[in-house]
Amino acid sequence: MNHITRHTLAGQRYGYPICCVSHFVRTLANGGRPSATQILAGEKTGFLPCPEHSLKLITGRITLADLIAQPLAPSVQSKDHSQSSLAPSE
Ligand SMILES: [Zn+2]
Repeated sequence: MNHITRHTLAGQRYGYPICCVSHFVRTLANGGRPSATQILAGEKTGFLPCPEHSLKLITGRITLADLIAQPLAPSVQSKDHSQSSLAPSE
């Protein structure tokens, strides 16, 4: 399993919106870095919202709790037991 797949699965496990997960993995795949706005909007939770959701979070139109669904039960986790997250590992 490559790191893109792992990040996608982790995002789904944490209940992150698919638009945000997709944007994050596309950024990673292209060798990019999250913007300061995204990092700020994620409030150091490890979650990096897509630009559209980042803007809504920063302007107070939505909260992180509005955006992040309940995580799935641990039993649906992949066989990979590493504690990956959407946060950059460096
Ligand atoms: Zn989003």
